[in-house]
Amino acid sequence: MNLLLLEEADFVSADRVVLADRRFTHMQEIHGVAVGDTLRVGRIGGLMGQATVMRLEQHEAELQVAFDQQPPAKLPLTLVLAVPRPKMLRRLFQTIATLGVPRLILVNSYKVEKSFWQTPFLNPENVRENLILGLEQARDTVLPEVIIEKRFKPFVEDRLPAIAQGSLGLVAHPGAYPACPRGIEGPVTLAIGPEGGWIPYEVDLLAKAGLAPVQLGDRILRVETAVTALLSRIF
Ligand code: SAH
Repeated sequence: MNLLLLEEADFVSADRVVLADRRFTHMQEIHGVAVGDTLRVGRIGGLMGQATVMRLEQHEAELQVAFDQQPPAKLPLTLVLAVPRPKMLRRLFQTIATLGVPRLILVNSYKVEKSFWQTPFLNPENVRENLILGLEQARDTVLPEVIIEKRFKPFVEDRLPAIAQGSLGLVAHPGAYPACPRGIEGPVTLAIGPEGGWIPYEVDLLAKAGLAPVQLGDRILRVETAVTALLSRIF
């Protein structure tokens, strides 16, 4: 945790917060804080700044906070991702928040197992919790928007063209395609497939919506690695 993220409910006055949960335990066990120590803090959706430990008790801490710094810029990206298996999905929420993805659209696809949609990791409170872990890692305060599109065809045909319009549209797919571009400055819409990959029909439909297939070389990367490799390369 490189940034302690604060919720509105933590505030007991305009510049004081009281913490008694995971963040309190972390402050104590990992940072070993004492009264008078300072910590980096951020207000979810707002500014970042510093906190001073004012009071420390067995089960809670009171901090005085001051905010003076903007969170870092996000990537100009909409990431469309076929739902991976639950364990990876959970980590991906953290990873995309850490990397600065502002908008994630989770889609179904032919090779997404139906059971993946049942995972508790898709419950809004769990999604938020993992996004927050990713923001704390990166030192950012702004939660990515997460959109769920359970039906591939209507999403890709009816909504994706408008989302991709005015951006560089890419679909990552191993094969005889142009190499994925590097160092893009403008907005990008990028689609990454499930563990089993996109099927040809899906690649065709994504291409019609404005996303051109690109590849990253002969090595097939795990979804999580592909996300990191693609974003580092594109931006
Ligand atoms: N067996 C699948 C691989 C899936 S890897 C197949 O052959 O298509 C999961 C996703 O990561 C892919 O759908 C793609 O979006 C991305 N990916 C992984 N390695 C890649 C590569 N070398 N080039 C382009 N995309 C890749």
